[in-house]
Amino acid sequence: MSSNPDKQLRVVIVGAGFCGLTAAIECKLRGMNPVIVEAYPGPSSHGDLLDFVPNAGRVFNSWDDGKVGQAMFDSGVNAAKTMDFYNQDNVLLRKDPWPQGQELKGTFAGHRGEMHRIVYEYAQRIGVEIQAGKKVVDYLDTDVERGVLIQGGEKVLGDVVLACDGPRSLARSKLLHLPESRVNSGYAIFRAFFNVTDEMRKNPYLADLAKDEEDTTIFWVGPDMHGFIYTWNHARDCAWVLTHLDDADIGESWSFPGKKEDVHKYLAKAGFPQVWTEVVNLTPEDRLVDYKLVWRDPLKTWLSESKRSILLGDAAHCHLPTSAQGACMAVEDAAAIAICLEKSKGDVPLALQVFERLRFNRSHVIHQASISTRNIYHKTNWTPEMVEKNPDSLVMPLFDWILDYDIQKDTEEHFNHLAEDVRSGRQGTIEELSLPAGGDYSCMDLKEDEPSSLVRESAPPAIMTSV
Ligand SMILES: Cc1cc2nc3c(=O)[nH]c(=O)nc-3n(C[C@H](O)[C@H](O)[C@H](O)COP(=O)(O)OP(=O)(O)OC[C@H]3O[C@@H](n4cnc5c(N)ncnc54)[C@H](O)[C@@H]3O)c2cc1C
Repeated sequence: MSSNPDKQLRVVIVGAGFCGLTAAIECKLRGMNPVIVEAYPGPSSHGDLLDFVPNAGRVFNSWDDGKVGQAMFDSGVNAAKTMDFYNQDNVLLRKDPWPQGQELKGTFAGHRGEMHRIVYEYAQRIGVEIQAGKKVVDYLDTDVERGVLIQGGEKVLGDVVLACDGPRSLARSKLLHLPESRVNSGYAIFRAFFNVTDEMRKNPYLADLAKDEEDTTIFWVGPDMHGFIYTWNHARDCAWVLTHLDDADIGESWSFPGKKEDVHKYLAKAGFPQVWTEVVNLTPEDRLVDYKLVWRDPLKTWLSESKRSILLGDAAHCHLPTSAQGACMAVEDAAAIAICLEKSKGDVPLALQVFERLRFNRSHVIHQASISTRNIYHKTNWTPEMVEKNPDSLVMPLFDWILDYDIQKDTEEHFNHLAEDVRSGRQGTIEELSLPAGGDYSCMDLKEDEPSSLVRESAPPAIMTSV
């Protein structure tokens, strides 16, 4: 325990992604003294399509009398009526009200760079210290020094370290002493975001998608492939993502250029409809990224040996996009850690252990589901009949137990008894010591009487080779 529980806690945060920013904002609002160290020189405009739903959205909405959430909402998809699902033959499979059939306050979908800028600037406005353009090269986790070492030799020290350094986390090796364990998921994603010009709108396929008064959110699913096209902002913005088999061993980077000829090759192989060909052709070449989908197995613990440093967000659990929850889980982590640090009154190891028990099972179940959901999408011959027989399978996996969850309320509610468990040395595995996940994905399972021919034999295993 800190010798002075009233001292303002110095929280060293690595990474200004949504996890690091949210952690810093929540710590600052709770009277702590956070500092973010980020390799990028400022808010990153990289990225394209990112969705937040209410389990994370309610955290953003809690800031500045709802103004941050409102700005995120205004910047993105806010005039869609339905999400439409098609198969590769362009047969309509289902049409769901957007989003998920409810008026969901706290759903933000749109350009990742724009939403990131809004959150980054809010952090700056409330006085979060951001040391941008500084790359962390080592973690310091001793009783003498706790913090990070920056390239060039400068140190940033504090009372606790939150490593929110993303999927290629250095903290995994430096703090947890784990070897790099990335595994090729077998898939990569072509991704693009671009502004729609009047010239582009002359194309009848794009004109059909990009309507002035209504945003478009469409999902196509086919053999070993699925993709979304979104248009919004009065049809001025367009983003698309296309998950494809990864047989080229591309790099794991948000700026690895994609090639249109490759996209066309995959579209042809999967027999995707003409609208895709047209939208890809219209996409400015320099807006096309090919992003490798890497899988990392769940960690047994996110805490360093000292229990004063911890991994959060993608650094701790890097989801495949088919969980539709990667960024939301990062935001939940960030909101929870700030409350744990506040409530533990300077006892950092207590805060971090309670945090882990709050988060472990929920995070694990949602993390794992990104594989099973992807397989349900890709390994099924989706027809309207299949959808009718399996109405809960071809869906965005956003169930009430995920969306209705209020991380701040739950942390407040469970902190004391979990802290008591930690103090009393209650024994058990991390799964036994943690709160139950609160739900599962079994409702998505395909009916067992489906003929096995519906599962494509050419399918690669969920996890392929080490990379
Ligand atoms: C540039 C970028 C674009 C993205 N675009 C999309 C998108 O279009 N769609 C989508 O679904 N998801 C996207 N993501 C991922 C998504 O935002 C995250 O999966 C999610 O928000 C979880 O966030 P995180 O903060 O845990 O990790 P991240 O968002 O990956 O943030 C990690 C941060 O840590 C910083 N960092 C890493 N190592 C160091 C170091 N050694 N020293 C200092 N700083 C370091 C990184 O620069 C980054 O800002 C993007 C992420 C990034 C970084």
